[in-house]
Amino acid sequence: MTQITIALTKGRILQETLPLLARAGIEPLEDLSTSRKLVFDTTRANVRLIILRGSDVPTYVQFGAADIGVSGKDMLLEHQGDGYYEPLDLGIARCKLMTAVPVGTTQQPSRLRVATKYTNVARQFYAQQGRQADLIKLYGAMELAPILDLAHEIVDIVDTGNTLRANGLEPREEIADISSRLIVNKAAMKTKFTDIQSIVDALKEAVEGNR
Ligand code: AMP
Repeated sequence: MTQITIALTKGRILQETLPLLARAGIEPLEDLSTSRKLVFDTTRANVRLIILRGSDVPTYVQFGAADIGVSGKDMLLEHQGDGYYEPLDLGIARCKLMTAVPVGTTQQPSRLRVATKYTNVARQFYAQQGRQADLIKLYGAMELAPILDLAHEIVDIVDTGNTLRANGLEPREEIADISSRLIVNKAAMKTKFTDIQSIVDALKEAVEGNR
């Protein structure tokens, strides 16, 4: 039997992924929320789950360390890797990647400073707009950057907008619609075709049942 490794993104995406996997007949044998383990066997004897930071999922799948991954589109846009297919939009963890500025901002500085963890996406976005922007890479709490004058604006994920509002910011321009995607290592798609296709099909049905 071929071993299949599925890389999942921990946090809120994981909470929305598990019900879909369960509907596809794949359930972890242990409670993920109470265990400190990173690898879990499942009710399908040949399928195991690994739990990663979102930014690491595309890397594991690109290099074939995981066969399948569940990754936010924001991470895929930023990763800009190849080596995987993106066969299915899971329709979960929906949000938008947006620019945000202090409430009421009207003036554009001549030299814009933008704080974000999505530097690749932001570089492309401002270049397409023909705007000069100095990008400042942060790993969290982007909302702080305009408050402390580190940056004029930020590029970040917006869901309800509560985090922005709580920090005196407002969304401005939409860069991309985000949801979680299924990705599959290209080589594994060939060498483990039957097993992988059956998982993709089962998840497709589970997603359609969600609609
Ligand atoms: P909100 O206050 O509802 O707009 O949520 C914004 C914050 O939650 C962002 O700064 C993100 O860090 C996080 N967030 C919300 N939705 C997602 C998602 N689908 N994927 C990743 N992070 C998210």
